[in-house]
Amino acid sequence: MRLFEELLDLIFSARCRECGEKLDLTRRACLCGKCWDAIRLIRPPACVSCGKQMKSDLEAICGECRLSKHLFIDNRSAAVYDGVMRNAIHLFKYEDKRKLGEYFGEMTAEALSAFGGVSGIDCLIPVPIFRKKHRDFNQAEVLAGYIGKKFGLPVYSDVLFRVKDTKPQHELSRDERRQNVSGAFSLRNPEKLDSATVLLVDDILTTGATADECAAAILGGSKAVSVRVFTLARAE
Ligand SMILES: [Zn+2]
Ligand SMILES: [Zn+2]
Repeated sequence: MRLFEELLDLIFSARCRECGEKLDLTRRACLCGKCWDAIRLIRPPACVSCGKQMKSDLEAICGECRLSKHLFIDNRSAAVYDGVMRNAIHLFKYEDKRKLGEYFGEMTAEALSAFGGVSGIDCLIPVPIFRKKHRDFNQAEVLAGYIGKKFGLPVYSDVLFRVKDTKPQHELSRDERRQNVSGAFSLRNPEKLDSATVLLVDDILTTGATADECAAAILGGSKAVSVRVFTLARAE
């Protein structure tokens, strides 16, 4: 049985998890080079508030952000959350954690560099998951780890906690999203954030409701100066 499973693994891992083509040397983890290249990277100009890709730099802020303000200063994202990226993030969370994590780590560092790096940022906080078991995988923690290592910043995983088991945000309407994460986060060890500018790290930003709720907990419970956000992917 074991051998059979290993054999299946071998067969499956030899094919791209997006298009099913045989993987060659251009592969990135479990995806072929062609599918990986189809990921739409976000590069300047992007909305200075939510990080959405803008077509020209004539306008700094997108229509949506002109109508509603965020508690965080800005969000920057590496790629658009659609197609291959949607599938790849799912695989990252539930299957190919290590290898895809490495590629996403690189993608994250490149995007941050393209958007002016991390000057002014004092520390990183991954958006926490609600932990049922100690071993639960938090993809935001992996990404924050890469950024911390690459840019020499401390990662604080013992400051922000999710105290409510929330539903996945993408299943909900805009209003439900805000309600879903309301009061979901709490702060410990706030002295770590004295006069700090925090970079909050997560995998996906949709309406920004989760990031706003985290920013509220951080700014309300500590002497942090401001919260900025980095997410691997930005939903359009
Ligand atoms: Zn493919
Ligand atoms: Zn915007």
